[in-house]
Amino acid sequence: MKKIAIVGAGPAGIEAASILAKNGNEIQLFEKSSNTLSNILDKAYLFPDFSPAQELADKLNAKLLNDKIRLTCDTEIVDIKKENEEFKLVDKNGKTYIADSVLITTGYTLFDAHRKEELGYGIYKGVITSLDLERMIRHKQISTFIGELPKRVVFLQCVGSRDEKSGNHYCSKVCCVTAVKQAIEVRKMIPDAEIYIYYMDLRMWGQGFEEMYREAQEKYDIRFVRGRISEASATFDGRVQIKSEDTLIGQPLKMTTDLLVLMAGMEPSQGTRTLAERCGIAGDYRFIATQGPHTNDNLTSVDGIFVAGSAKRPMSVRDTLTDAAAAALAMM
Ligand SMILES: Cc1cc2nc3c(=O)[nH]c(=O)nc-3n(C[C@H](O)[C@H](O)[C@H](O)COP(=O)(O)OP(=O)(O)OC[C@H]3O[C@@H](n4cnc5c(N)ncnc54)[C@H](O)[C@@H]3O)c2cc1C
Ligand code: SF4
Repeated sequence: MKKIAIVGAGPAGIEAASILAKNGNEIQLFEKSSNTLSNILDKAYLFPDFSPAQELADKLNAKLLNDKIRLTCDTEIVDIKKENEEFKLVDKNGKTYIADSVLITTGYTLFDAHRKEELGYGIYKGVITSLDLERMIRHKQISTFIGELPKRVVFLQCVGSRDEKSGNHYCSKVCCVTAVKQAIEVRKMIPDAEIYIYYMDLRMWGQGFEEMYREAQEKYDIRFVRGRISEASATFDGRVQIKSEDTLIGQPLKMTTDLLVLMAGMEPSQGTRTLAERCGIAGDYRFIATQGPHTNDNLTSVDGIFVAGSAKRPMSVRDTLTDAAAAALAMM
């Protein structure tokens, strides 16, 4: 029996805790927020099946009902030190915890759309992020800032990903399918709205994603424009004007919209960045580096410190859970 510390109670941390506990290990699971699964419960419905996020949260939380798992919320781990063959984890208040090995599952944070000033997030009220829209969908009320139903909604892909200016050259993997999912949800709630998705190219890589994309066009009348929006500004009546180029026909376009939804990408969370730096295991873009892309993909360069989930790169829930199971196996 090992004493294992897991940092971060998102899908990866919970899945790994459950598997490791079932195999007789003693688990200390640390979560900095007052509740588990914050990056799941901020969504209404999940791709690929439009299932309620709450349903997944309930299923995952039920896995914590094991007396070998001790969950400690409101505890942010800020350092991990290896001393002889043991690990000493330090929380924000200086309290320490001892473990035989450590799994880091500190996850991601949404790219801060304020950094793309030219798109007007935080400046024009009609410019929102996918997470803001998710909140509206959860409350079953999609509206403009003056409380009206939007007549036109435009989604913009690749905000803070595949982007030279923000320094993030990688693809965030989940935002193409999230835009299609959200566009369908908007259509269901506002049947006569015009809905556009501006994309560089659509990466519908997962099972069922391509079918969802076809359905979006054929059944839900979502219009796809291949192009990048270079700038957003306000109109006198509080709408948003966007300037872009349709790169398929090579023509500049101008359009006004009631809501411009920025599909912000995934970046390493502050916890991921801090632990990556403190433990000397930072990789590209300050995600946590693993020993290899094919084998040993849950092992870091520090013997006894493992990593799983979106702390190492953007991934969907399904991939996160599979990765957490692989990490648990590697730790046994
Ligand atoms: C806009 C958007 C929509 C998405 N929609 C979907 C979807 O519909 N379907 C789907 O499959 N996937 C979706 N995803 C992806 C999904 O959110 C991730 O796959 C999943 O959350 C990754 O789980 P994780 O456990 O790796 O990380 P996280 O969910 O980020 O969990 C990490 C946990 O660690 C905690 N933590 C961080 N630092 C510390 C620390 N220092 N100490 C203690 N605790 C800490 C955090 O509070 C958090 O609870 C979406 C992502 C985005 C950005
Ligand atoms: S998933 Fe789509 S929107 Fe997100 S970064 Fe990749 S290509 Fe861009």
